[in-house]
This record gives sequence, structure tokens and C-alpha cells, in this order.
Amino acid sequence: MNTATSHELFTRALDLMPGGVNSPVRAFKSVGGEPFFAASAEGAYLVDVDGNRYVDYIGSWGPMIAGHAHPKVLDAVASTMRKGLSFGVPNALEVTMAETVRKLVPSMQMMRMVNSGTEATLSAIRLARGATGRTRIVKFEGCYHGHGDSFLVKAGSGALTFGLPNSPGVPKALADLTLTLPYNDFEAATTLFAEMGDQIAGVIVEPIVGNANCILPREGYLQHLRDLCTQSGAILIFDEVMTGFRVALGGAQARYGVTPDLSTFGKIIGGGMPVGAYGGRADLMQQIAPAGPVYQAGTLSGNPVAMAAGLATLGIIQGPGFYERLESATHVLCDGLEAAAHDAGVPVTTTRSCAMFGLFFTDRQVETFADAVACDTAAFNRFFHAMLRRGVYFAPSAFEAGFLSSAHGEEELAFTLQAAREAFKEVA
Ligand code: PLP
Repeated sequence: MNTATSHELFTRALDLMPGGVNSPVRAFKSVGGEPFFAASAEGAYLVDVDGNRYVDYIGSWGPMIAGHAHPKVLDAVASTMRKGLSFGVPNALEVTMAETVRKLVPSMQMMRMVNSGTEATLSAIRLARGATGRTRIVKFEGCYHGHGDSFLVKAGSGALTFGLPNSPGVPKALADLTLTLPYNDFEAATTLFAEMGDQIAGVIVEPIVGNANCILPREGYLQHLRDLCTQSGAILIFDEVMTGFRVALGGAQARYGVTPDLSTFGKIIGGGMPVGAYGGRADLMQQIAPAGPVYQAGTLSGNPVAMAAGLATLGIIQGPGFYERLESATHVLCDGLEAAAHDAGVPVTTTRSCAMFGLFFTDRQVETFADAVACDTAAFNRFFHAMLRRGVYFAPSAFEAGFLSSAHGEEELAFTLQAAREAFKEVA
């Protein structure tokens, strides 16, 4: 595989950007080697600057659920941008976006658009603190909620991959206000609330932990968190930046039938443009400025071109059978990966929720963060490179979920499973 142009670009980039990248996981640090540079993308495929083509299971880390460069999204962007890139006054697409989100996710009674998932989660915990007058927040080991100070405590994703769950630069006084619980442990949550429930402003959780690969909630766990929050007056925040519009049209809250007070979104809601959103109970959202005293703002928030890309994507995913097809494609992929690994004698288990999946190098079921970190990451790294050489791009970290899009059809799945059969033999 010729990667000369990527190598040349990466060499230049290393001198210009920390790690040669604008976001850490892209640097391939945990899997080793050098990243490839994208030239274009279409459907299920990424093409690099040396002309290599990859079946892509990351989809820009989640947004591209309708496949790359979907014509409807491109047309919406092109026609909107011709009317102006940013206005700094309200535009109609913001209203349509809010109406659409509320229709798909009824708990989003009111909302604010922002420019990233990080902004959404930062704003949601400020609101939880402002509304309750309390300071402590609760998060879960291995969950990642963006790079806000309060969240870089026992975080997952890149922060976990690099062994930096507590980043230098996060003031201890602030980190002390973040309490961390083991995900899926009912008793630990009960005990914490019994001891400190009246000090807790909010609980923020990835309802499915996509930043420690993909860990599903145990039966009744999300409802348990809901009950604890209701009893103690804490705000329950579902961080659906990853799961929103991915594990079901109404997100994880629809899939599990648990209603949070606030939710955060990103990725799919922007269709590939920089967008996030937070919202929920109207009485809480009415406390955001200028309606109320809790401050949050954004120069480019509700940007028309970004709204157009997001709305086009939200239109596509409402098509008949969209999620059923995605879910069955994920089963074909995950069942096939497990079978290929088994045939090669490599212990592998998968988790899945509609268009999202986890691949763990272990023969045990993975239900906790401790289970996830106990997996054989060295074997994952070998598998990652063996797949990449064969033209399949999985996330370059053992702690990231994989994503399918509606563009992953029979041909792409068959190609992937053939590559996997060969790759697992290399790993064994
Ligand atoms: N929350 C979750 C669950 C995420 O997965 C991410 C990013 O991957 C974020 C928040 C942060 O979003 P962004 O990278 O858009 O700031």
C-alpha cells in the first residue's frame, strides 16, 4: 500500500500541530503507525491522498449515518450557502431544526443549538448547577463528554487511550466537584446518593458507553439513575452526542424508555458540519439567558449552513425502514466478525445497538468499564493494522465504538468479513 503522500503531509503536520493533528485520536498513537490523510469520501468509503480506498466504520466519528457526501445533504448545503454563510440574526432553519428535534425526541421541550458536543455538555452542567444551586456533578468511569474541565476525570475515548484521564491544566478544586461512579453498578450509585444526594447538581451519563468501546446498560440501570435523580432533586443528563439518532430515531432514551431532564446532542444532528445541541425540560431551559440568568452564547450557533446539513440528515433518517436496515447490517457484521475470530481461534466478543458496535478482544462478556480495559488491546492493535492494509478502517483505538451507515451494503459487509477472516489469522 503506497502511503507516501500521507507520510509527507504527516511529517509537515508534526511540525505545525501537536501530534500532527487537530484532535488526538486521529494521530494513531495507541495503535501505532501514522494516520492517512483523506482526499475525499463517498458513501461507505474514504479515499486517501495516495488513492487508497477504505470501507469506513467511523463515519467522521459518528455524524455520517447516511454515508459520506450524501447528495441530499450536499444539495441542502450548497443551496443554503449561496444565500450567505452566517447572519448573526435568527434564521428560519433554526426554528425548523428545533421543531424537528422536538418531534423526534419529545423530552427536548426547548433547546439551544451550539457548535460541538463539548459546548453542549458544558452548557448542560452549567444549567444543572444554576438550576439546583448545587455544585457537584456525577459522571461514570470511561464516559467521555468532551474536553471541558469538569469531564476530564476518569474519562474515556482519547483521554483513556493516552492514559490521561486527569489532564494537567484541570484545577484540582474543579476536579474535586466531579464524582465518578462505575457504570452499570447499581449499588455504588445508591450509596453515593445516600451519602451526598443533596449536594449533587446533576448526573451526566452516556446511556450506552461509546467512549469505552461500546458498553450497554444493564437491564433497569438507566431507570435506577432516573429514580435516584428524581428522589434527590438532581438533574439527569443523557449525553446522546454519540447515541442520539444512532441507536434509534429517538436516541437511547427512546430505546430504553427512560426520560432525562436534559440531553446533549452532536455529530448526526449536524450531518457532518460542526453542530451540537442541548435541551430538555422547558422550566430548566427557561433559565438560560436571555430568558433567565444562566449564561450561554455562541457567535456561530444555529449557523444556517450547518442547520441545513443537519436537517437534511434528519430528513433521511426518518425514511421508512432506515433503522431496521441499519440494525440488520450491524448484526451481519458483528456475527460475521465473531465467527471469523472463532474460526481463527482468537477470543473476540461484540456488543451492538442498532448502528453502533463494540469489538472486544476477550472471550468474556463486557458489561463494565473494568471488563473493557481488561481486553487485549495489543491484539486489537494488530487487528486494526491488518484490516487497514486490506482496505477497512476501524477506529484507531480499542476504546472507540464502530459505526455503520446506510451506505454500508452487502458488498461492503462481505468485503469487510473477508478481510477480517484473513486479519484474525494474522492476529492469532
Ligand atoms: N459526548 C460524547 C458522548 C462524545 O462521544 C463526544 C465526542 O466524541 C463529545 C461529547 C464531545 O463532542 P465534540 O467532539 O463534538 O466536542
